[in-house]
Amino acid sequence: MPQTKILLDESEIPTHWYNVVADMPNPPAPPLGPDGKPIAPQALGAIFPEAIIMQEVSGERWIPIPEAVREIYRLWRPSPLYRAHRLEQALGTPAKIFYKYEGVSPAGSHKPNTAVAQAYYNKQAGIKRLATETGAGQWGSSLAFAGQMFGLEVRVYMVRVSYEQKPFRRSMMQTWGAEVFASPSDKTESGRKILAADPKSPGSLGMAISEAVEEAAGRKDTNYSLGSVLNHVLLHQTIVGLEAKKQMEKAGEYPDVVIACCGGGSNFGGIAFPFFADKAAGRKLRLVAVEPTSCPTLTKGKYAYDFGDTVGLTPLLKMYTLGHDFMPPGIHAGGLRYHGDSPLVSQLYHEGLIEAVAVPQLATFEAGVQFARAEGILPAPESNHAVRVAIDEALACKKSGEKKTILFNLSGHGHFDMAAYDKYFSGELEDYSYPEAAVAESMKRLPKVG
Ligand SMILES: *Cc1c(COP(=O)(O)O)cnc(C)c1O
Repeated sequence: MPQTKILLDESEIPTHWYNVVADMPNPPAPPLGPDGKPIAPQALGAIFPEAIIMQEVSGERWIPIPEAVREIYRLWRPSPLYRAHRLEQALGTPAKIFYKYEGVSPAGSHKPNTAVAQAYYNKQAGIKRLATETGAGQWGSSLAFAGQMFGLEVRVYMVRVSYEQKPFRRSMMQTWGAEVFASPSDKTESGRKILAADPKSPGSLGMAISEAVEEAAGRKDTNYSLGSVLNHVLLHQTIVGLEAKKQMEKAGEYPDVVIACCGGGSNFGGIAFPFFADKAAGRKLRLVAVEPTSCPTLTKGKYAYDFGDTVGLTPLLKMYTLGHDFMPPGIHAGGLRYHGDSPLVSQLYHEGLIEAVAVPQLATFEAGVQFARAEGILPAPESNHAVRVAIDEALACKKSGEKKTILFNLSGHGHFDMAAYDKYFSGELEDYSYPEAAVAESMKRLPKVG
């Protein structure tokens, strides 16, 4: 029987992150300022430390991981790679299914991989506090943990509906010492403006970003930290794919297809980009980003310059977008509800180098339950999107007789999401496709560029 867990030693934690920009056929479209001209990197100095700005604009293929960051990584990295023997049997597929499991981190997902790096660089730059937003709470808890590791204060603006639905994520952040406010809040001008227009606003990631950015821009001792979307975040997450490559090699396999769910794109970029390097060098493989039909950024959005937040405080990013005033329906994969997507992932998708697929909510829970019953691990609702597509690939192999090797990223565990599973079991969950008309309506409010 081949190995079930393919493990690496702590000494095999990668020493460098991989920067996909070095292997992209075209340079990334630059972020633009309010005047429609590319912004100078220094303009971001009000909210980010120099080291992170340098990574954001870097074209270097390999960027060293500081020893202090690798030391914290050792608390849970290298994360295991599993061969899903039992799922393969349950499906009766000739395909081989592997999954990288990021749920072993302290916060239970891939997000601490970048949170720790960001906290480190801010600490090095003499920053005392970090402000950030969180949707479902995974990013807020990751940054709370990372702040605690380096002695930084962390303030989190948490999307109001999640604040109310997920009180235990809030307790988790508080355990690691962070302050948490429901957003929109009365703490910032952005929040007050939104509340004046709609006192019962349930909040959105875009709104919470406005609040956190405003606070960071207004205080010298405070910087801003983002959990996905930006180039440096995807860079830090490549540790996942770099480890997975070593582990696949140990298993004597190479994937035909790499699958990951995609919210802001860091989870997908994290596992897929190190494999993209091989694709760029001529190797044949598919890289598939999976999103919900209720927030179909890549599959139904427009590739255009848009704001990263609701109020319009951020630079303009060229990305697939549903419009910066997109109000996400209340689906349970909270981490996949952002209106935009990583500019790097967007550009690669636009150029036809990666694939994207949207899947409906019920089918993702069905897949997650099937996975848990075979493999034991209970996936986060976000991760269920990747599980769904991995299972579909394996079932297609069953039909065709192909013996493909499938690799997906199990981005986190679902222990804080049992209320969503309860709703699934009681038949209260619904499918929802975000209407084309709503996308078209939001597109009218895209910022004018050029
Ligand atoms: C945040 C989150 C995601 C989405 O990650 P992105 O990097 O924004 O695409 C996926 N899975 C889990 C478990 C998450 O917490």
